Amino acid sequence: MDMSFSPEELAFRDEVRTFIADNYPQELKGGRRTRGEMSKEDILKWHRILYKKGWVVPHWPVEYGGTGWTITQRYIWNEENARAETSPLLPFGLSMVGPVIYTFGNEEQKKRFIPGILSADDWWCQGYSEPGSGSDLASLRTKAVREGDHYIVNGGKTWTTLAQFADWMFCLVRTDPNAKAQEGISFLLIDMKTPGITVRPIITMDGAHEVNEVFLEDVKVPVENLIGEENKGWTYAKFLLGNERSGIAGVARSKKAIERLKNIANAELVDGSPLMKTDEFSRKVAELEIDLSALEVTELRTLAAESKGRGPGPEASILKIKGTEIQQRITELAVEAVGNYALVQAPRMEVTGNEFVPGPDYSAGTAQDYFNVRKTSIYGGSNEIQHNIIAKMVLGL
Ligand SMILES: Cc1cc2nc3c(=O)[nH]c(=O)nc-3n(C[C@H](O)[C@H](O)[C@H](O)COP(=O)(O)OP(=O)(O)OC[C@H]3O[C@@H](n4cnc5c(N)ncnc54)[C@H](O)[C@@H]3O)c2cc1C
Repeated sequence: MDMSFSPEELAFRDEVRTFIADNYPQELKGGRRTRGEMSKEDILKWHRILYKKGWVVPHWPVEYGGTGWTITQRYIWNEENARAETSPLLPFGLSMVGPVIYTFGNEEQKKRFIPGILSADDWWCQGYSEPGSGSDLASLRTKAVREGDHYIVNGGKTWTTLAQFADWMFCLVRTDPNAKAQEGISFLLIDMKTPGITVRPIITMDGAHEVNEVFLEDVKVPVENLIGEENKGWTYAKFLLGNERSGIAGVARSKKAIERLKNIANAELVDGSPLMKTDEFSRKVAELEIDLSALEVTELRTLAAESKGRGPGPEASILKIKGTEIQQRITELAVEAVGNYALVQAPRMEVTGNEFVPGPDYSAGTAQDYFNVRKTSIYGGSNEIQHNIIAKMVLGL
């Protein structure tokens, strides 16, 4: 694969770089806050700017709002966003339910839901997991019973990310309790304002409110909010998970995070010389970089296949496992580098204020990052489950 850029691609890179520099909101710059630490408005700011520019869904077909960029242009786009440390856009509408709607939804549903996804007027959340149905998702018990032109939904979802802000939830429900587990599931779009829905926070170990429990009690959902066919929801659910998993790999952002890690390790001293110069630490960073380069090539191969119309198959599981392992190793090394200063739970946006915070500025947030990315090997289907998928689908074991 030729990795060098043509003059046109370099011009595109400059255009993107300038656009980000001129338009990324000042107040979000340099803040590596997790979404659980940000307000709703802050989370949506960059999305809205990109929507106005027409760059909010480069990965979508042009007819639904995509940019028509080549794979290289999309690669450049990701690299430039990572380089500028822009806040990642929420995946629930753009990478999860949006593609499901334009692939499996009817014309009415496309007209009704796609504009709100693009403009971020509608905030979506993912109602898949339930207590006892995470890895074994097909065992889910939230049931929907058809009564005339409505479904009556009863049950509960858990770990629902940012449901506290959501206008809509895409939800897996059991519509045929007598069929084989995978064959009795449907994919419903539920308006979060419908009576009978209660959202309760779950506070995670980094101290943030990012996930929730969602209780559904006699929730009336119009039949026109069913995607595709009743009891065929598992097919759409798996399609969505493939997109979700490849999106978790985060290669470009891990590159930037390694750069930051190296800066920390160059500033930290061991016996008077930089930590980065010690054999042990530099070997760990080199191993990380090698693994990330290998992952990058795998991701490019997946993107190239996607551009030829082949959606992410089991390789999405490989991207997910390696990408999340690398993210976690980076935060582990950052904590190792700053040592006991990692224990200071300083809010990372306030270290330049008057309040005294022990330790260097770069140590702020290292512990939050470390704790926060523990989730990445769990969500989107745990890494153990991804190993099972590879064993079955790739290795045929
Ligand atoms: C921060 C966060 C955000 C999330 N956001 C959402 C969201 O927005 N919407 C949503 O629907 N879900 C969300 N999830 C849920 C996530 O998808 C599940 O947590 C995940 O699928 C694992 O399910 P579980 O938690 O029930 O664990 P379990 O399935 O109970 O698994 C427990 C452990 O056993 C292992 N295990 C289970 N079965 C097997 C097996 N067959 N072989 C080998 N090992 C196995 C697992 O790998 C894991 O280590 C989120 C989770 C987290 C942590």
